[in-house]
Amino acid sequence: MSGISLIRNISIIAHIDAGKTTTTEGILFYSGLTHRYGSIDDGTTVMDFLPEERARGITIRAAAATIPWRDHFIHLIDTPGHIDFTAEVERSLRVIDGAVVIFSGVEGVEAQSEKVWHQADTYRVPKIAFINKLDRIGASFSRAVEDINTTFGNCAVAIQEPIGVEDGFHAILDLVSEEMITFTGADNREVVRGPVPEDCMDLLAQRREHLIERLADHSEAIATMYLDGEVVPAELLRREIRALTLKRAIVPVLCGSGKRRLGIQPLADAVVDFLPSPEDIGEVAAHDPRSAEQILVSPDPKAPFAGLIFKVTASASSDLFYLRTYSGTLTAGDTLLNTRSGERVRPKQLLRIYAKSTEMIESVGPGDIVGLVGLRDCGIGDTLSDPRRRIAFEQISFPDPVISIAIEPKYSKDKERLDEVLDLLCREDQTLSRNQDEDTGQRLLSGMGELHLEINLKRVADEFGLEARTGEPRVAYRETFRAPASEHVVFNRILGETELFAEVEVAFTPLSRGGELFRVGSNLRHRVLVPKALVAAAEKALGDGLRTGGNHGYPLIYVGAELTAMEVLTDKTTEGAVVGAVLQAVDQAISHAGTIVLEPLMKLEVLAPEDCVGDVSVYLQPRRAVIHAMTSVGQVKRISCLVPLSEMFGFGKALPKLTGGRGAFSMEPCGYQELPANIANQLFGGV
Ligand code: GDP
Repeated sequence: MSGISLIRNISIIAHIDAGKTTTTEGILFYSGLTHRYGSIDDGTTVMDFLPEERARGITIRAAAATIPWRDHFIHLIDTPGHIDFTAEVERSLRVIDGAVVIFSGVEGVEAQSEKVWHQADTYRVPKIAFINKLDRIGASFSRAVEDINTTFGNCAVAIQEPIGVEDGFHAILDLVSEEMITFTGADNREVVRGPVPEDCMDLLAQRREHLIERLADHSEAIATMYLDGEVVPAELLRREIRALTLKRAIVPVLCGSGKRRLGIQPLADAVVDFLPSPEDIGEVAAHDPRSAEQILVSPDPKAPFAGLIFKVTASASSDLFYLRTYSGTLTAGDTLLNTRSGERVRPKQLLRIYAKSTEMIESVGPGDIVGLVGLRDCGIGDTLSDPRRRIAFEQISFPDPVISIAIEPKYSKDKERLDEVLDLLCREDQTLSRNQDEDTGQRLLSGMGELHLEINLKRVADEFGLEARTGEPRVAYRETFRAPASEHVVFNRILGETELFAEVEVAFTPLSRGGELFRVGSNLRHRVLVPKALVAAAEKALGDGLRTGGNHGYPLIYVGAELTAMEVLTDKTTEGAVVGAVLQAVDQAISHAGTIVLEPLMKLEVLAPEDCVGDVSVYLQPRRAVIHAMTSVGQVKRISCLVPLSEMFGFGKALPKLTGGRGAFSMEPCGYQELPANIANQLFGGV
């Protein structure tokens, strides 16, 4: 087997609390990378963020950890479990080849796991599932498998069966090899595969038959043997399970308890046995950034190098960039091209990042994940390629931030340091941004939700030890034009000795809400007479002008702006003159057409037990929520609605009270709507 076929790039994805951290800790422990089985409950986990590591200046937050397993390497890419971090989840899904989805054996499919499952499908990521917490009261493996089948279209195929229920759960039947798996030794380190005891034979026969029936639906080889009454050998089952998982026809389901240390090693085995290697994935689509022509990149070590930066761990001294390599071989000190910026960069060091340590490596081949140090002006989503073959992987697009909060240092001596820290946080997370309140000059931090900001503010305090004062979270409003406008501007200025001139005509049109935010372009009557650089400067100024804001100072969106005419005079028309004319046209349009204030709308899904649905609805209705579906998911109801963000502050704290701690929700930005007149009046005294 070649090196590439021994790599597995995976993420573990789960609803918060399903046991992702505990399971990950287990895999790290049994791989030998850690010497104690960290527990989330006593704060000794590795994959969760460790502030003291940053304090020591070595950022080894395991955003992606390499785990040796059997003779393979599993690269485990961390994804946040929380609802406000959709963009980060998507970024990870881009670079993984397979996923382990963890469900709680008690709660089954929950809001977030459902959402991430669908996201993984969008990126065509093959999955295996792990039903965790089977030691807990009320846990049921078969119900969880059924839950997956009901919610995700009959794809779950159990390849194991737990022995013993709840507290009595102690062993696992391997339906493929027909063995009983038990665990012994300190921390259940040793896996014992033995014959299935007499009293479990019936259960094994029944479950194995079910497994074979399910596989026979997709596999001709198995169907034939099954119909002929032949015994289907374990090897064939394994091969077919792998093939069908890779084709995303099935999702094999395993069982265990992270906390009781049951089933973790077989889960890691299943990652190796059933999830794809980069070789299985084969060619990946990219394009030539100049011609937009598609280029297929193959995992060939001899091809020109190409890789994608998918995560950054920023620090004051040196940022650490996580790169997924797709083709070619990279050696430390090689020159690469950042195709976004056009700049050449030279990574000084290549690092293999383990759970608690790093190791310098000389070179890295395709399909791998590696840490790079010493890159300038690079960020998440950038493609680094061999300068001789300029390619770009598709850019990851991020929604605009919808919420912001004012933040000032408690002591004025900390001003510079706070700026540094905020910059650093924004480098790590592109859905976070910072700017300044135009009126008050205050620093603003903007993000995707209340929790998103809260977590980052907590990092400012805990990790960087900075005391800061923050304001109330504020909604990031937008504006749009009330009507189309066509503006004609003659810009004539005398600046000292020089006379400046530019004449432009711009057509502004409101675009349909919910579609593109801007469309800036030009359709000039006398195109040949105008230098290209001036047209480009005008288009850029149009974009900047719209972003600067409308009558209330909020950026304009859902606006098309087209430059329809431009007159220039050879000696008098500079870029500055063109920009001046265009910005004046934007100002005129704002005052002629008038603007409407828009507020961010959130797509909210709440999962709540049936007896709490009434209370949740009563909470939502006066908050302008439009409920458009109410469906059953297992034992609970799912309420799907659209609701303005401004009404949802504090919902994370309210829901547990409404549902006795049994509710869950997911919320993400979903466009903008017109702010109702009464609210606009209250806020702005009429718009
Ligand atoms: P995450 O939020 O998905 O990372 O979940 P954690 O691993 O942090 O686990 C959440 C809580 O569930 C913690 O209190 C764990 O101790 C507990 N937990 C995790 N796995 C199990 C399990 O298999 N059985 C039981 N009883 N509790 C578990």
